[in-house]
Amino acid sequence: MDRASTLPLTLPRPLNLIGGDWHPAVSGREMAMISPIDGVRFAAIAESGPEDVNAAIAAARAALDGQWGRLTAAERGRLMLRLALRIEAEAEALARLETRDNGKPIAQSRADMAALARYFEYYGGAADKLHGEVIPFLNGHDAKTLREPHGVTGHIIPWNYSVQIFGRSVGAALAMGNATVTKPAEDACLTILRIGELATETGFPPGAINIVTGRGEVAGRALSEHPGVDFISFTGSPAVGQAIQIAATRNHIPCTLELGGKSPQIVFDDADLDAAAPVIVNAIVQNGGQTCSAGSRVLIQRGIWARLTAMLAQRFCAVVAEPSGEGAVLGPLISARQKARVEAYIDAAGAPLIAQGGVAADAPPGGFYVAPALFGPVDPASPLAQEEIFGPVLAAIPFDTEAEAIAIANGTEYGLVAGIWTRDGDRQARVARAMRCGQVYINAYGAGGGIELPFGGVRKSGHGREKGFVALYEFSRLKTIVHRFG
Ligand code: NAD
Repeated sequence: MDRASTLPLTLPRPLNLIGGDWHPAVSGREMAMISPIDGVRFAAIAESGPEDVNAAIAAARAALDGQWGRLTAAERGRLMLRLALRIEAEAEALARLETRDNGKPIAQSRADMAALARYFEYYGGAADKLHGEVIPFLNGHDAKTLREPHGVTGHIIPWNYSVQIFGRSVGAALAMGNATVTKPAEDACLTILRIGELATETGFPPGAINIVTGRGEVAGRALSEHPGVDFISFTGSPAVGQAIQIAATRNHIPCTLELGGKSPQIVFDDADLDAAAPVIVNAIVQNGGQTCSAGSRVLIQRGIWARLTAMLAQRFCAVVAEPSGEGAVLGPLISARQKARVEAYIDAAGAPLIAQGGVAADAPPGGFYVAPALFGPVDPASPLAQEEIFGPVLAAIPFDTEAEAIAIANGTEYGLVAGIWTRDGDRQARVARAMRCGQVYINAYGAGGGIELPFGGVRKSGHGREKGFVALYEFSRLKTIVHRFG
């Protein structure tokens, strides 16, 4: 069988991209990269410190004052479109690298590369479409607004959809003329380094895109606390998001926080269950459940409890965690730590196990494979129904009335995405409005999909909106100019 893990790869070297050149960490330190597929060390990255972050921020500042800052919006957009084409041309090699680095099934890595190219296409096309306006004001005055970049933007990125998040966050920032410094996750960042190479080859001026690898508590922290950064885009866990928010407040700068979730799918007894069942299973199995918007709770109206749980159980039993080659649906989790964490939730579930899939017999013993599990009925107040597990574990929760379903759906600290399954149009509208979250799907579930769709959370899921055209407002600021004329 064709296994992505055995395909030849060109690995980026353990270097940072700073000011258009590649540099080792000033300390000379490197970190090992472990592949989740087999637990084998297969590459290394630079383990950067504050001095490397300082250099990247200085390079970004110089870019704003130099060639990058002088480009017109249309020229920036054209560069981004060129990079999108380059990513498309290299997509298969990039996908193989991502699968080796991250462990995700090759089909998911291919989807990630298509999304990455689409982000650069979307934001490249949008670069010259958002601008200020002239405002009627006093006689003898012109009042106008300008859309300006923040300046140097910092991007701290997790491992689960690293390239998609790079595309949505760095893409929007570049479109508005910011110079960027990215700190990708230490668990998976090789593909982002390769994209940095492609950007340089495509003709991005030095310092527009800087990439510094290393540990979160060191390099990430140095970036988030640096007074030379004008805006921070953070995607990751709520705990680190809180630290980022505090650092941003200390520096009096804005930030967007895209954090975790415990997203519900509510299935009413009039729903099309044949349509719902595969979507519900995919929403928790996709990317091993390591998706901020994973549908990790399914709320089932009591009249269809037996039928729907049986349908879900049948599908769960058929899912096998396997090395991430062609045809794989579920790959390994990202790390030994994540595997142990998810297994601890499964062991301490405190609810009946309805069904569990398997792990392939040929899965390398050193890899981080976990069999997907469906539990129910789960107490809505229990950890299984309240905490973000970030693995292929689905909590099924019964309910009787619409009001009860809304209360359970909104009854966690998170609020990212919700799914509603019903044929009743009035109920669709009512429940969608009642959901306390950033995105709602009706008779569908996108797990964060849709480059064009504004995305973000409330409360512990974060604040600010990325994706879509609205992200351009986040990644720019407005200046008002009043001009009195004689
Ligand atoms: P994480 O918070 O541990 O790490 C995210 C990034 O922050 C990494 O680059 C890491 O190196 C860095 N970091 C860690 N500690 C830091 C510190 N003290 N200061 C600055 N940077 C630091 O998260 P993770 O485990 O990589 O990702 C999983 C989390 O991300 C989940 O909670 C998931 O829901 C969330 N997520 C959210 C979205 C979204 O769009 N809402 C998308 C993907 C993932």
